[in-house]
Amino acid sequence: MEITETRVSPIHSSNSRLRAYVSVTFDNAFVVRDIRIIEGKNGLFVAMPSKKTQKPCSKCGYKNATGSRFCGSCGSSLPTENSQKAPVAERHKDLAHPINSAFREYMQTKIIEAYKKAIEKESQSSPNK
Ligand SMILES: [Zn+2]
Repeated sequence: MEITETRVSPIHSSNSRLRAYVSVTFDNAFVVRDIRIIEGKNGLFVAMPSKKTQKPCSKCGYKNATGSRFCGSCGSSLPTENSQKAPVAERHKDLAHPINSAFREYMQTKIIEAYKKAIEKESQSSPNK
């Protein structure tokens, strides 16, 4: 499988570590959106699209994002396993992701390359920045 197209939308925000949203096309046939490029402690890394996991309230059954302290529907406090202390990995679930490190590596390299090109292009088209 090969990446045949990448579309990068850089985010210009100084108070966020999010640098860009990326759409990636595989084999001219399958596209994955909402891949994010994040500035981490050790440089840029690629985060796969994810969704917040949910847990139903024991009182009313309303589905709250894992990590919520109170039910968004009835307002009762939620049990501790639902608390902010839950590891990020448990609060977010990847929707699509590579299943081996070779492909992960390939994707990461391709995506960051595309991001750097997009940034370069931007700085060339706005020389006053
Ligand atoms: Zn509730």
